Amino acid sequence: MRFTYLLHLILIAFVFCSCKTGPKKGEITKIDTSNAGKYLTQNDVTTSSEGFLLKNQSSGFTSKFKVRNFEFSAKVKTTAGAEGILVFAAPEVSSPDKGYIVKINNSDYRVGNPQKTGSLSKIRNNFVRTAIDNEWFNLSVIVKGNYIKVSVNNKITSEYTEPDNLKRPAELTDHVLANGFLSIIKSNAEGELIIGEITILPLEDVLKTSLVIYNAGEVVDSLNQQEFPLIDFHGHLKGGLTMDQACQYARINGYNYGIAANCGLKFPVTNDSTLNAYLDKIINEPVFKVMQCEGREWVTLFSPAAVARFDYIFTDAMTWTDHKGRRLRLWMPAETFVDDEQQFMDMLVGKIEAIIGNEPVDIYVNPTFLPAKIAADYDRLWTPERMDRVIKVLKNNDVALEINARYKIPSIAFLKRAKEAGLKFTFGTNNTSNNDLGQLEYCLKAIKELGLTTDDIFLPRSAKDKKVMKSGLPSKITG
Ligand SMILES: [Zn+2]
Repeated sequence: MRFTYLLHLILIAFVFCSCKTGPKKGEITKIDTSNAGKYLTQNDVTTSSEGFLLKNQSSGFTSKFKVRNFEFSAKVKTTAGAEGILVFAAPEVSSPDKGYIVKINNSDYRVGNPQKTGSLSKIRNNFVRTAIDNEWFNLSVIVKGNYIKVSVNNKITSEYTEPDNLKRPAELTDHVLANGFLSIIKSNAEGELIIGEITILPLEDVLKTSLVIYNAGEVVDSLNQQEFPLIDFHGHLKGGLTMDQACQYARINGYNYGIAANCGLKFPVTNDSTLNAYLDKIINEPVFKVMQCEGREWVTLFSPAAVARFDYIFTDAMTWTDHKGRRLRLWMPAETFVDDEQQFMDMLVGKIEAIIGNEPVDIYVNPTFLPAKIAADYDRLWTPERMDRVIKVLKNNDVALEINARYKIPSIAFLKRAKEAGLKFTFGTNNTSNNDLGQLEYCLKAIKELGLTTDDIFLPRSAKDKKVMKSGLPSKITG
C-alpha cells in the first residue's frame, strides 16, 4: 500500500513538473522573445523586433524541457555567410550540440559548408539550396517514433527512419532518437541568424509510425556519414514521373536529385521564354535545376543570362553531323552510320573535343557512349590514346565526367585514368520513365573501385562563377 502511495506521489510530482517545465502534449506552444524565459536557456542572444539575434559563433538557445516526439517549426532568416544548426534529441543540456543535427546554411554553391538548409547532417545530407539569405523561411522538423522529417518552406529536404539495429560509427553515437533537448546554435562567426516565432507541438509517445522505410542500406548510410555528395545529377521527369515522386524516391534511397530539362531544337524548352517559364515553375523544388543542352543547335537558341539561371548545365556527344553531312543520333540505330569503325571512333573523339572545347557546359554526360552496332567492342575501340584525348579536353575546360548508371559507362579503366588526371565526377541515371530510376548501382561500384572521396565530386558553380557568363556561347554550332 505504502509503495503504491509513494508511486502516486511521484507520478503527481512528475506530471506537475512536466506541466511547469515544458509545453503540453497535444498542444501547440508558441515561443518568442516575450516568453522565452519560460522555455529557453539563452547564451549570447540579443533580441530585436524581428526576434532572437544570434551573432557570434556558439551563440544560441536550448530548451529547458525535453521532448521525444514532436512537430517543431521556426521562422528563420540568415544574412550572408551565417551558418547554424538545429539540434534535437540532445541527451544533455550541457552539450546541446550532441543529437541529431539539421543544418542552416543558405550560402551559394562552393561557398561555406556544402550541406545546405534542411540537411539532416551525416544521416541524410541535403546539398540543394532551399532558402536564400535575407528572406524568412520556415524550418520544420517532425519526429514520430523512429521517423524523422525535415522540411524547408513545406518542401521535404530529408526523411529518415532510424532502424532497430542501429549501427553508427563512434563519432555519431549521439545521433540517436531520445527524449532530449532542442537547440538552435550559430556554428560560425560570419553573418547573423535571426529566429522569429517558434512553435512546438509535443506528441504522444509512439514507438513506430513510419509507413515507408527511409533506410537505404549500409553503403548509402556510410557515404552520408562521410558527408559524401551522393547525388543523381541526371534525372528526368519522363514517362509520368512527377517532381514529388522523384523527390520521394531520392529520399527513400538516401541521395539528392538534379532534375534536367531537355533544351534544344524541337524540344519543349527551346528559347529564353520557355526556359524562364520552366524554371519559374520548379524554382522552389528541393532539387538541382538542370539544363540538358540538346543537339548542337542549343548554343544559338538561348542567352547566357537565361542559361546561367540553371544550377549547372550538361551535354553529351550523341548528336552531331558526320563528314558526309548526316545528322547522327547515336542511340537511334536508324540514325547512326558506322561505315568504318576506326574512322568512326576518330570522328567521335574529334566531336567530343569540339563540343567540350567550345560549349560552356559543366558536365559531359552519357560519356563515351557507342552506338549499339559497335558497343560490344567498347574496350578495344576506346584505346588509351583516345581515352586520354577525351580526358585532356575535359581537364582543360574544367568539365566534370558523368559516371552513368544506365549505360554503365565510362568503363572502370577509363574512370581510373580520369581520376589519375584529377577530373571531377558526377553520377547520373538518365532515366527514361518512372520504372528505370535504379539506385546508382554502377556509380556505387565506381565509388568503391576508384576510392572516390568528397573532393572528387563536382558541385554546382557559384552564381558569380558560371562558365556561360564568363565565356559566353559560341557563335556557331560546334559539331
Ligand atoms: Zn538526359
